[in-house]
Amino acid sequence: MTSLSSMGVAGLSRALAAGEVSSVEVTTELLAAIDRHAGLGAFLATDAERAIAQARQADAARAAGSAGVLAGVPIAHKDIFVTDHARTGLPSTAGSKMLAGYASPYDATVVARLGPGEPGGPAGAGMVTLGKLNCDEFAMGSSNENSAFGPVRNPWDRTRVPGGSSGGSAAAVAARLVPAATGTDTGGSIRQPASFSGVTGIKPTYGVCSRYGMIAFASSLDQAGPLARSAEDCALLLSAMSGFDPRDATSAERPPQDYATLMHRARPGAAAGRPLQGLRIGLPAEFFPAALAADVNGAVRAALAELERLGATLVDVSLPHTELAIPVYYIIAPAEASSNLGRYDGVKFGHRAAQYADLMDMYKKSRAEGFGPEVKRRIMIGTYVLSHGYYDAYYLQAQKLRRMIADDFQACFRRCDVIAGPVAPTVAWKLSEQGGDPLQAYLADIFTLPASLAGLPGMSVPAGFGAHGMPVGLQLIGNYFDEATLLQTAHALQQATDFHLRAPAGF
Ligand code: GLN
Repeated sequence: MTSLSSMGVAGLSRALAAGEVSSVEVTTELLAAIDRHAGLGAFLATDAERAIAQARQADAARAAGSAGVLAGVPIAHKDIFVTDHARTGLPSTAGSKMLAGYASPYDATVVARLGPGEPGGPAGAGMVTLGKLNCDEFAMGSSNENSAFGPVRNPWDRTRVPGGSSGGSAAAVAARLVPAATGTDTGGSIRQPASFSGVTGIKPTYGVCSRYGMIAFASSLDQAGPLARSAEDCALLLSAMSGFDPRDATSAERPPQDYATLMHRARPGAAAGRPLQGLRIGLPAEFFPAALAADVNGAVRAALAELERLGATLVDVSLPHTELAIPVYYIIAPAEASSNLGRYDGVKFGHRAAQYADLMDMYKKSRAEGFGPEVKRRIMIGTYVLSHGYYDAYYLQAQKLRRMIADDFQACFRRCDVIAGPVAPTVAWKLSEQGGDPLQAYLADIFTLPASLAGLPGMSVPAGFGAHGMPVGLQLIGNYFDEATLLQTAHALQQATDFHLRAPAGF
């Protein structure tokens, strides 16, 4: 018997529809696996009783013939999405002590759409929420070591990081604790952990998924997306979680998209064995620097050769401002974070110091106690670059360069349909290997930051294995709202390879 844990979203959906398994059975088995592998640190919280109740409801809806394709399929959410505490029994912490004990009175739009639906709105997808997943504090980080609730371990090698900030999401999917998870990506936090943990993840175009109920880090960059085993699974999830939301002023006003259908649509000129015929894949010279680790380069090149066999043409392109993406991002993201995090003052919600002399002292102590070191560092950088006298030199300059980075992409997309390269310069590093040097982690973001700054969709697809048997992801970047071409390219690769189906030993 194939274990229920090994099944992906599409597989479970088919098995549930055929009545081969019930959602209660799947949910029960996965909750047991989550308990068994608590040592990974992927989950911050579960509520077994409420999860089983949701599964029972989904089974009833299936029996009544009123269930959608995702009904009864389990999911877990990065703990940056708020979840209605009364409904789910789950916390909403953003990986921070600042929000320990906070009970959200509502669900994030993404959570509602994948689950019960929005209050007063159409029914949701009816997925079962298993729990909340560990992440870097306020999504700031690349290794999940910045969580106030401890690190997450990479299921492929427990001495290594799973990537971040959606490290819990990536590790949980890789360890078969859940078939799919939500994540958020501000500068790479879906793509990089997907790459480090050997799962598939997509960050859609900025504005495709609602940010309502996503605890804010850098509002002009934050975007939600799914992490799952395959492109097919990601397409199903993205269809359910995306779409216009009037409660998010930056939500794109577009008709709902059925990414699974779009993904399977044949390309003009496609032939048997050559589904990607006519697809032009651009390789930016800047994404293949001499410093790129040889194992990562090898796996990425092999995946590109496979895409060529599937009909795609590789073309050389250039993103000349790639290196500047690091200083630009690490000015803009902290600037926005310092403003967003101003709300945690110990008054309205969140941690409040037990003892203080006066109001100012209460603010200071509450923030000093509630925030971890990386968050404090970013608040300081952010307030500095926004302050009078430095604004023009840093923040304004960064905004100008951000536009130039976006323009570089548009020049590329005149010559290609998809841009490809590595997700990260190396495979997952060891826990505490960076010895608290934040700059090392910032520099490793070089290949994910440009698409984030431009607001473009980006994806990580398992492309093979590198040093120490660790997974390597291939990054695909598309033009605005062209998620379908990314998913189609990834799906074609996954039809020809089996990297996405392999599980770490012991899972
Ligand atoms: N690693 C980047 C950072 O630390 C990106 C994080 C993210 O995408 N949330 O900011």
